Amino acid sequence: MTSWLDLPEDTLFGLHNLPYGVVDTGDGRCWVGVAVGDHVLDAGAAASAVGAPFAHLLAGPLLDPLLAAGRPVWRQVRTALTEWLTDPAFEGRVRPHLHPRAAVTPHLPFTVCDYVDFYASEQHATNVGRILRPDSAPLTPNWKHLPIGYHGRSRSVVVSGTDVVRPCGQRKGPADPAPVFGPSVRLDIEAEVGFVVGVGSPMGSSIAVADFAEHVFGAFLLNDWSARDLQAWEYVPLGPFLGKSFATSVSPWVVPLDALDAARVDPPARDPEPLPYLRDAEPWGLDLALEVRLDGHTIARPPFSTMYWTPAQMLAHTTVNGAPTGTGDMYGSGTVSGPDRDQRGSLLELSWGGTEPIALPDGTTRTFLEDGDTVTLTATAPGPAGTRIGFGEVTGTVRPAAGG
Ligand code: MN
Repeated sequence: MTSWLDLPEDTLFGLHNLPYGVVDTGDGRCWVGVAVGDHVLDAGAAASAVGAPFAHLLAGPLLDPLLAAGRPVWRQVRTALTEWLTDPAFEGRVRPHLHPRAAVTPHLPFTVCDYVDFYASEQHATNVGRILRPDSAPLTPNWKHLPIGYHGRSRSVVVSGTDVVRPCGQRKGPADPAPVFGPSVRLDIEAEVGFVVGVGSPMGSSIAVADFAEHVFGAFLLNDWSARDLQAWEYVPLGPFLGKSFATSVSPWVVPLDALDAARVDPPARDPEPLPYLRDAEPWGLDLALEVRLDGHTIARPPFSTMYWTPAQMLAHTTVNGAPTGTGDMYGSGTVSGPDRDQRGSLLELSWGGTEPIALPDGTTRTFLEDGDTVTLTATAPGPAGTRIGFGEVTGTVRPAAGG
């Protein structure tokens, strides 16, 4: 499969990827873009130019209509995009709608409705347990029976490139006599993978593990910024609140599940066997290789293939009580951490609770984030026939606390 478009040999945005986003070129019009090579195709304009019956779904300014259209249409559009970019008969009508990727500005690609964040990495949960609750078993008794999650704040979801203001709040260390108020002194990141629902489920129904791909449109990268000091003081007994709700960053490109066929792997063996509604005959483990960079320096390479719970199990669990889901509902996997020291997806783990500072090439060290720090997550996955596909990146820079 070759394109009339001159694609760089080693591009992570080849014909097997074709992720969707929403971008503009500075004229105030947001449009649905499909990344290909070093370009972005104005998909709505191209669809109109060739007279595609689904052109209205790509007319922008958001992916919402495409997400809601369902899997048969997702596949129809993907097949058509591939045809337009490979069949020379389409070149004349399609080429005028290509823009250099470097010239577009990304926006949030869909309306974020509900947002849930999970805690699905056994290594992450074990590390956090050891650091925060050294006197108890690292995993809580429920951990291997259900994917633990909490409801996040959808309004705080921002696209890559958005600055993050250091949050203020209450904190109280174990030795402090009373809580104090001020800017967080333990600002952290969580390297995660996000998933977005295209077609939801009505209240009173649930989504089976096996039906995951009928409902979820695609995947992207997610940084769940976390204020560990605020979180530690507030999270018992109802879970994270202000320690998480100030910002969640997402990458601009949504990689369709159909682009991830070659990335599917068996997750680690689950022991004990989950209850029937969480069993997966054809599991959705994904071999995504994440990378975490702090001020341009790689500090971790978390492997998504080590996640204990799959995104299909997360969605099945979310809906098993009959809670409704709908277009634009998104969820995060939870911090991705592998078994090795350099595979940990948070500074809390990388610095072991702040006790083992990380050395940076400029001679400075970090336990948690400083103002001005920039964190960037990237990921790649296997594509067909030895190719690789990319997720692009989610990046954000820490700004000083408001009034600080
Ligand atoms: Mn998280």
